[in-house]
Amino acid sequence: METILVLTHADESGAALTKASLEAVTAGKELAARLNAALTIGIVAANGSAAAEAVASAGARLLAVSGADFAQARFASDAAACEALCRTAGATIVLAPGSSRFTRVAAAVAHRLGGLVDTHITAIGGKESVEATRWFYRQRVEAVLTRKAQPWFLLLDSGTHAAFAGEPAAVTVEEVAVELPALRTTVTGLRAPSQGAETIRPDAKLLFVAGAGWTKKQPDGQTHTAEAAELILGLLGATSASLGSSKSLVDQGSDGQPVLPFLTHLNQIGQTGATPRHAKGLATCCHGEEPHVVGWRFIGERRAVSLDANCGWSRGKADVVYVADAFQVIARLNAKLDSAKP
Ligand SMILES: Cc1cc2nc3c(=O)[nH]c(=O)nc-3n(C[C@H](O)[C@H](O)[C@H](O)COP(=O)(O)OP(=O)(O)OC[C@H]3O[C@@H](n4cnc5c(N)ncnc54)[C@H](O)[C@@H]3O)c2cc1C
Repeated sequence: METILVLTHADESGAALTKASLEAVTAGKELAARLNAALTIGIVAANGSAAAEAVASAGARLLAVSGADFAQARFASDAAACEALCRTAGATIVLAPGSSRFTRVAAAVAHRLGGLVDTHITAIGGKESVEATRWFYRQRVEAVLTRKAQPWFLLLDSGTHAAFAGEPAAVTVEEVAVELPALRTTVTGLRAPSQGAETIRPDAKLLFVAGAGWTKKQPDGQTHTAEAAELILGLLGATSASLGSSKSLVDQGSDGQPVLPFLTHLNQIGQTGATPRHAKGLATCCHGEEPHVVGWRFIGERRAVSLDANCGWSRGKADVVYVADAFQVIARLNAKLDSAKP
C-alpha cells in the first residue's frame, strides 16, 4: 500500500500556498483516490497553519514545518524541512511542484531517503501502481515511467493539473520539528522586476510571440525597431499576455543587430527554449520553423501573422494564419483594445 505525500510551499506572503503547490494537491488527491491510499500534505512556510487553511477540505493529514527560517528558499533549510516531512509521513510516493524552490532540493532529499526523483511529470496514471508521464527530447517523445524505488519523488510541471480549490477553513496542523544544520546562506531579500515589467507570465491565457521579422527591413526598405517595441509593449499592456520570442530575434542582441531591449533568451520558445502551456498563442513576424514550433506543443489554439503565405505556420502548424503585415495588424488591434477600455 502506497503512502502519498504532497510537498507544498508558501508564496512570498509566507501564509498562502503557491498555485503550483495547489496543483500538486489536486494530483495527490486524484492519485490517492485511485490507489485507495492515505494522503498527507506537507507544508513548508513561515506560517504553516495559515497556509494549511486552503487545503483544509482536501481530506488529508496535514503536516507543516513553520517558522522564519522557512520563509524563503534556501537549500539547507528547505532540504531539512522536506526530509523531516517525508520521514514523518512515511511516504512512499512524494509529489511536489516543479518550482525552483523544490527543484533545487528534491534530488538531495530523495538521496538522503534512499529514493529516486523524476522531474517534469505531466500526468500520473495507473490503478495498481503509479505510472508517471513525461516528455523527452524536447517534447517529441512521451514516456510512461514506473519505478520500484521508494520514496519516489515526482516533480510536476505547472499547468498540468487544476489548482485545488476547496472551501478554506481553520484547521489543526501537526507541526514537525526540524533540526537545522549550520546555515551558511542568509537570505537578505528578493529582487524582482517591478510589477508590469515582467514579460514572462506563465499563467496568462495568451502567448504572444515576436519573431525576427519585427526588426527586419520592411517594404519601405527601412527597419522600424522602435515602432515594433511600442506596438508589442502596447499589446502586452492591454492583454497581459506572456511574451515569447523566436531564437533568431533574441540572438540578434549578440550579433549587434537592432534589438528589442525587453527580450532575453528567457523569452525564447522552442527546441532550445521554453515549452509553455497557454490556452492560445499568436505568433507575429515569425516563420514557424520546426525548432521554434516544437515549443508550441502544449499551446491550445495557434494563430500566426506573417507576410509569407508559404511560411511554416501555413504549412499545417497553425490553426489560423493571417497573411498580413503585423505592424498594421497589431496597430489596429491595439487601437481596438484601447477603445474597448472601460
Ligand atoms: C539546433 C537548433 C535549435 C534551434 N532552436 C530554436 C528555438 O528553440 N527556438 C526558435 O525560435 N528557433 C530555434 N532555432 C532556429 C529556427 O530554426 C529558426 O531559425 C528561427 O525560429 C527563425 O526565427 P524567425 O521565424 O523569427 O525568423 P525568420 O526566419 O527570419 O522569419 C521572419 C519572418 O517574419 C516575417 N515578416 C517580416 N516582416 C513582417 C511583417 N511586417 N509582418 C508579418 N510578418 C513579417 C517574414 O516573412 C518571415 O517569415 C533552432 C535552430 C537550430 C538549428
